Amino acid sequence: MKQKACKICSRVFEGEKCPACGSKESTDSFKGKTIILNSEKSEIAKRLNIKEKGVYAIKTK
Ligand SMILES: [Zn+2]
Repeated sequence: MKQKACKICSRVFEGEKCPACGSKESTDSFKGKTIILNSEKSEIAKRLNIKEKGVYAIKTK
């Protein structure tokens, strides 16, 4: 299945809805992926307002 990124929280996922925030708003055009393991220590996580570990898109359109 094709990967897509959540428009709300940028989580990269496959399937119907975002496992992180439950949104169905998603896009398959996103740039870059980053794995957030420790959101409290990650600058990217702070910037994207990520609080849960997982794979996230750097930029969504
Ligand atoms: Zn989401």
